[in-house]
Amino acid sequence: TAFIGGSLAGLGEVFSQIQRAIGASERVIEIINETPETRNGVANKEKLKGDIIYDNVTFAYPGRKEIDILKGLNLTIKEGQKIALVGPSGAGKSTIIQLLMRFYNVDSGNIVIDNKTYTEYDLAYYRSNIGIVPQEVMLFGGSIKENIEYAKPGATEEEIKNAAEKANALEFIENFPEKFDTLVGDRGIKLSGGQRQRIAIARAILKDPSILILDEATSALDAESEVLVQEALDKLMEGRTTIMIAHRLSTIRKADNIFVIKNGNIVESGTHEELSTYDKGIYSHLLSLQFQAN
Ligand code: ADP
Ligand code: MG
Repeated sequence: TAFIGGSLAGLGEVFSQIQRAIGASERVIEIINETPETRNGVANKEKLKGDIIYDNVTFAYPGRKEIDILKGLNLTIKEGQKIALVGPSGAGKSTIIQLLMRFYNVDSGNIVIDNKTYTEYDLAYYRSNIGIVPQEVMLFGGSIKENIEYAKPGATEEEIKNAAEKANALEFIENFPEKFDTLVGDRGIKLSGGQRQRIAIARAILKDPSILILDEATSALDAESEVLVQEALDKLMEGRTTIMIAHRLSTIRKADNIFVIKNGNIVESGTHEELSTYDKGIYSHLLSLQFQAN
């Protein structure tokens, strides 16, 4: 019947959407979250500036509502500022980012972006202003070109090539016989961690977001990749509001402001110089124990 046909077609559509999203969990979550009401918000012609204020934010995960993960968090990040979130595992760093991405709503308090409550913006418009270089870069089965273009569907070859160049990825891509058409993923070639990171950086460059989130890899990259990734990240951060979840001292030192998170709250903040002189502080303690030296 038409009814069964209709629902099967619907299922097929869902499956093909999921297939396209394989390896791109961010996109899966976008599909799940795109309820109609989130499409009616403000969508400016211009990009956001990237002024971010967490105003007394309280949050508990659905299904665990009895445990507040964030308990009245206040955090201000000015347009173009680079901040680092540091702190022990389980402190709430990723949660702070997930709220910014609108994967969840705050329970009380507010997140204000460019003087507007963040949920007032159209979700797709809002997310188009945020770029992420994740800890573990997932590539989907397809060509390198497709994997970069995903950040800006319809981008020209020139744009993709430029992004790869700025990401220090052009050289290794052009060394493959198939160049940008090289297949990656399960049935393609295996890229190193550093190469995958540079693909993610190329994506972010192509997206050109006002707000950038860097979730630094905890595992070390090979020495050559390390230098190339750092260089590319430095370029990428220029002129963008940047939130780094940082593990490496060399990254943390670059932040204009460091926020030490513990039990869902900011317990210390300041520059590396300011915080490291306070030798009874948590930052100093983390410095001696946890941060990677390079
Ligand atoms: P961090 O990134 O600083 O290591 P997280 O923000 O990931 O910390 O986690 C903060 C707290 O929230 C932890 O206690 C963690 O167990 C909990 N948590 C994280 N994600 C979820 C989730 N999806 N559902 C329930 N609890 C979660
Ligand atoms: Mg985390």
